[in-house]
Amino acid sequence: MARLIDKKCKLCRREGMKLFLKGQRCFADKCALSRRDYPPGVHAQKRIKVTDYGVHLREKQKLKRIYGVLERQFRIYFENAERMKGNTGENLLSLLERRLDNVVLTAGFALSRNHARQMVNHGHFAVNERRVDVASFRVRPGDAVTVRPREKAKKMVSEAIDVNKSQSIPDWLDVKGDEMKASVVGIPRRDHVPHPIQEQLVIELCSK
Ligand code: SF4
Repeated sequence: MARLIDKKCKLCRREGMKLFLKGQRCFADKCALSRRDYPPGVHAQKRIKVTDYGVHLREKQKLKRIYGVLERQFRIYFENAERMKGNTGENLLSLLERRLDNVVLTAGFALSRNHARQMVNHGHFAVNERRVDVASFRVRPGDAVTVRPREKAKKMVSEAIDVNKSQSIPDWLDVKGDEMKASVVGIPRRDHVPHPIQEQLVIELCSK
């Protein structure tokens, strides 16, 4: 599966906001955005008039970069969100939140989104006791995500749980750290999404 390989901090600087792509480093003084609060590139500090299209595009790029999704896959998420009942923007965010790599990160089982994705790809997690190694796997209410009985996986997850112990967990997940288990008990709603995204702009752009 293709994935974003750009330097993470450059993506945050490009978007002018923290996308939280590097785990604990994002909360420390080492965060590149707090030291260089301007876009990357030689001419990036020139004043450039941002068009209406540019505003919409940046919002879409932010969303794709936060969840590590490329354009083609993002279009599929959008089409699925459009087909669902209710608000398309909220559906889109809900679908992205239900990715397995996002569940692993939100449950505090990984140090960063990349780490979560890598652990899933390496087959360290099971959903309803069946090994799943696809980061985009969509969880449903009633699913239980567990760490597979491998010493290496348990060690990595245990370290992540320790680092993330103060992280708040949304109520659509029921996480039992001692059992290394995250049960999906609901559907993520708009207020569960921690990112300041204007999803309406994304929908307007994708609908054109
Ligand atoms: Fe973004 Fe994190 Fe890098 Fe800061 S440390 S610029 S939040 S990826």
